[in-house]
Amino acid sequence: MSGERRRDPTTGDWTTFATHRQDRTFLPPADQCPLCPTRDPEHPTEVPRAAYDFVVFDNKFPSLTADAPQPVAPPSGVYDVAPARGATEVIVYSDDHDLKLADMPAERLARLVDVWADRYAELGRRDEVAYVFVFENKGEAMGVTLHHPHGQVYAYPEIPPRPMRELTAALDHFAAQGTCVYCDVVARERVDGVRVVCGNESVVAYVPYWARYPYEVHVTMRRHAASLLDVTAPERLRLAEVLRAVLRAYDGLFGFPMPYVMSMHQAPTDDGQWQHVSHLHIELTPPHRTATKLKYLAGSELGGGAFVNDTVPERTAAELRAVLERDRAPRP
Ligand SMILES: [Zn+2]
Ligand SMILES: [Zn+2]
Ligand SMILES: [Zn+2]
Repeated sequence: MSGERRRDPTTGDWTTFATHRQDRTFLPPADQCPLCPTRDPEHPTEVPRAAYDFVVFDNKFPSLTADAPQPVAPPSGVYDVAPARGATEVIVYSDDHDLKLADMPAERLARLVDVWADRYAELGRRDEVAYVFVFENKGEAMGVTLHHPHGQVYAYPEIPPRPMRELTAALDHFAAQGTCVYCDVVARERVDGVRVVCGNESVVAYVPYWARYPYEVHVTMRRHAASLLDVTAPERLRLAEVLRAVLRAYDGLFGFPMPYVMSMHQAPTDDGQWQHVSHLHIELTPPHRTATKLKYLAGSELGGGAFVNDTVPERTAAELRAVLERDRAPRP
């Protein structure tokens, strides 16, 4: 059954089945890392180079592929099935096994933003791709199977449910107000100020007013930009600076590298008219509630789809700001 997608007729959502992924490499020792450069030709890794800056390659255990076969059993009755078409890519951030995003200079992180933009453009051009989703799962708490710093890109054949809900809400907002809801959120955060973690002239990072997770932070372009392709080179550096500051605040908060999921939302690449309602932003959702406690998705979240947050966004934003202020203070 590997490599097919089945549709839930009760919600309209698709589930991708990738059963071969059960066999993938699970937390290998650092000296057998498949993402490290090939230093000894006798023992090649997945990257046949002695050194590299960034590497992009197709996931060795893909859940979506360009040439996915037709499902064995055809759609029947209420059930719809489709080939798992699309792409799953891995972006390796560095040839240094221990270099986290937060430790990269902003100039280097800006080059990663260029890589993201390149993948968005190239995968988005494919006919079968409706949505290019850039993300990173970081830390064992997020189920990461390889510690080497890397992120992923999934190219889906339709707009996935969460971006679709955002776009639908943005369309409703535009119809009612005539404005982009993200532009309005950015304006409101600037006025209120209390949820802002950091920012510069192009980008702002804030704990959202409606945060689902205690330390959730959204990194959003100040001006309307539908995708990375609308973001200029100087703005990409500004984006890298703010993203880096947020990740450093995370790592400084509890004194250990913070696990998180990083998700980038930008315009779909289907034939729809999304330019006026898509507004590039990065959502960071760390699972930690405290240094030792994680937030688990349970009844209300999983069964009801309704998040319950037991912290106050204005307070968690102040905690993250305090970490950055502490880091800026001169050392005795
Ligand atoms: Zn490695
Ligand atoms: Zn906007
Ligand atoms: Zn979003």
